[in-house]
Amino acid sequence: MTDGTPHFNIHAFRNALVEWFRREGRDYPWRRTTDPWHILVSELMLQQTTIPTVLGRYDRWMRQFPTPAHLAAVDEQTALRSWEGLGYYRRVRSLQAIAREIVNEFGGRFPDNAEGLKRLPGIGPYTSGALLSFAFNKAAPIVDANVARVLARIDNYSVPVDSTEGQKYLWSRAESLVDPEHAREFNSAIMELGQTCCSISSPDCLLCPVRPFCSAERPETLPVKNPKPQVTRVEHHDILYIRGKSVLLAKCPEGKRHAGMYRFPQREDEHTLSLPHVLKQTYSITRYRVTRYIHHVTDTPLLREGEEFVPLDKIHGLPMASPDRKALNSPTLGKLLDHIR
Ligand code: SF4
Repeated sequence: MTDGTPHFNIHAFRNALVEWFRREGRDYPWRRTTDPWHILVSELMLQQTTIPTVLGRYDRWMRQFPTPAHLAAVDEQTALRSWEGLGYYRRVRSLQAIAREIVNEFGGRFPDNAEGLKRLPGIGPYTSGALLSFAFNKAAPIVDANVARVLARIDNYSVPVDSTEGQKYLWSRAESLVDPEHAREFNSAIMELGQTCCSISSPDCLLCPVRPFCSAERPETLPVKNPKPQVTRVEHHDILYIRGKSVLLAKCPEGKRHAGMYRFPQREDEHTLSLPHVLKQTYSITRYRVTRYIHHVTDTPLLREGEEFVPLDKIHGLPMASPDRKALNSPTLGKLLDHIR
């Protein structure tokens, strides 16, 4: 039943959703504020990171950087170090670029309209919609994976939602549905519905507040998506080399993934590969499944550009990607490093 049919009453739909949210909506720190800076931080953290992980980090980050001016004032390494554990570091770089723009060009205040927000670096339609509705209660649409799922099911929409046509449809549908009186609650509600009742594999239609408006015939088959690219397996070989009380680390160059962060140096030469590894890690990055071996070398390696010896007691303050920090804190490397503490 879409709003083109006589059964879809848009006012009743909005009311059902908003009232359900008022009763059932979960309490998150970012839902207790209308400060656009706090909302922006939560939105960027929540992109590609789970709610429990963000909950464990959000308050601490907000205490460290309570306003854009606080983040604008620190160097990039401090910002990267504070973001550790959340991954996808381009988000914190983007946050810092926005913070500086807000301070330098907007006198410390966020614009409350789409045109002004567009002028900020890295603000796309989703973040703009989130800021306008959550901070300013303006009727702007948002479409994330949860909203896309709910909308596709309500309309029994079977075009791939990650296609251009699908995206156009969802954004226009979200725009037509958002409640102009209660945009903040409406957008929170539709996201929450996708996280709870209208979950990916087991939609709980019996308890759903908008069931009378939903035309999904087999909701678990929606939304339709284009096939995912295949996972590619890759192997990395890195070294642990200790000299005196220092460890050889490499600073990732500008323009590369993890730019500005420190990691164990990579070596793929025959000699390194012939050494037994002291640590093996497996993790996923986008469509790559990485197996990484760390070899403890005792012969002095030839230093490459960007590599430097870092005293062990200074490493804690440096930004490191999660796998490297985990390796450093692992019992195996801990034992080797205990000798130089
Ligand atoms: S009725 Fe079922 S499929 Fe439709 S929106 Fe509700 S939970 Fe999702």
